[in-house]
Amino acid sequence: MAFPIFTEEHRLFRESVRAFAEREIAPHAEEWDRAQAFPRELFRKAGAQGYLGVRFDPALGGSGLDYWYTGILIEELMRARNVGVVVGLLVQCEIATSIIADCGSDELKRDWLMPAVRGERVAALGITEPGAGSDVAALRTTARRDGDAYVVDGSKIFITNGTIADFVTLAVRTGEAGPRGISVLVVPTDTPGFTVGRKLRKVMAHSSDTAELFFENCRVPAQNLVGEEGQGFSAIMRLFQGERLVLAYIANSFMREILEAALEYAGERQVFGSTLASMPVWRHRLVDVMTELEASRLLTYYATDLMCAGDPAAEVYVSMAKLHAGELFKRVAPECDQVLGGYGCMEEYFVARATGGVSGFAIGAGTSEIMREIIARRRIGL
Ligand SMILES: Cc1cc2nc3c(=O)[nH]c(=O)nc-3n(C[C@H](O)[C@H](O)[C@H](O)COP(=O)(O)OP(=O)(O)OC[C@H]3O[C@@H](n4cnc5c(N)ncnc54)[C@H](O)[C@@H]3O)c2cc1C
Repeated sequence: MAFPIFTEEHRLFRESVRAFAEREIAPHAEEWDRAQAFPRELFRKAGAQGYLGVRFDPALGGSGLDYWYTGILIEELMRARNVGVVVGLLVQCEIATSIIADCGSDELKRDWLMPAVRGERVAALGITEPGAGSDVAALRTTARRDGDAYVVDGSKIFITNGTIADFVTLAVRTGEAGPRGISVLVVPTDTPGFTVGRKLRKVMAHSSDTAELFFENCRVPAQNLVGEEGQGFSAIMRLFQGERLVLAYIANSFMREILEAALEYAGERQVFGSTLASMPVWRHRLVDVMTELEASRLLTYYATDLMCAGDPAAEVYVSMAKLHAGELFKRVAPECDQVLGGYGCMEEYFVARATGGVSGFAIGAGTSEIMREIIARRRIGL
């Protein structure tokens, strides 16, 4: 059943994204996971469809829509079963660029945001450092004012789109220690002194590009400052709201795909003369997953509604939606992987790639379900 908030316009947008995902991503999902990369051309293709500026002002090349459309975009892109692609594209169209849309100058919007919306320039967001992750206010990358430029020195880690980005929306320290000394700069990656360190190999979101970045004496024009000096921390905190909602949608849609793959498998796999899907124990376990997932989706929709209405309660509900989806994934992933038995450890299976074959030890030498059967027969009887 469609959620009541969705209109005919939402349905048409959903169909268009679904067709794009089926045509442009799904046929390559496994290959791109193996390659730990997806082609840069996909940014242009997504840009040409208008998917990289869903919420941005039409004057900037965007569609002027709201977070419901961002949510639909994610739900449908995820049908292609490649989470790395979705992470890379959403960094481009929400996470690294919305701060420029919110408080960047007209020049920054023209030179960096608009080409990103068209998919011509790839964006990354550089906040996390080796010594500052959750504690953003502890970041140490400095930007010292020198004439008409800032001179940037420091490093960032875990940066999505890091090796392919044309610019980094970079959190830097321009002033005192703590949150009030933080600013945001747009740093072009052809700036002398900018280098990419290692491309980091991940055990999840395989096809997204994640890297270490280094800045040594990078002279960045002072007009690349996003908003006002010293106002970066509050701008980043506002950005995190949207990023958290995006993450809740990605996690929910990812779980939906993992569950659907597990259900398909359970409907086909014969064990001891019947399908897994016809065994009460598995029916109940899968129904539990289905129910929890539906609750997570509805909490995320509620948070979206509050975000779109500009309700101050959105801050709490977006955090709840992100918290719930992230923690639920840790239960859903192994539960669905277990359904696949040994195949849940084989890379060619989407569920295995998605969950890292987390159930390996609960499968080999007799699965947990068979152990329960043995114990039950001995201790409870037939
Ligand atoms: C796939 C991927 C992509 C990413 N992409 C980007 C990106 O594009 N740009 C970017 O800037 N960053 C990116 N990140 C980094 C991400 O935002 C950080 O990993 C995250 O903020 C946590 O920081 P940390 O890894 O340093 O962990 P830490 O902050 O060191 O946390 C370690 C542990 O300590 C706990 N902890 C920390 N503080 C507290 C506290 N006050 N109370 C209780 N427990 C606490 C944490 O919850 C965690 O369990 C990415 C990360 C991943 C995995």
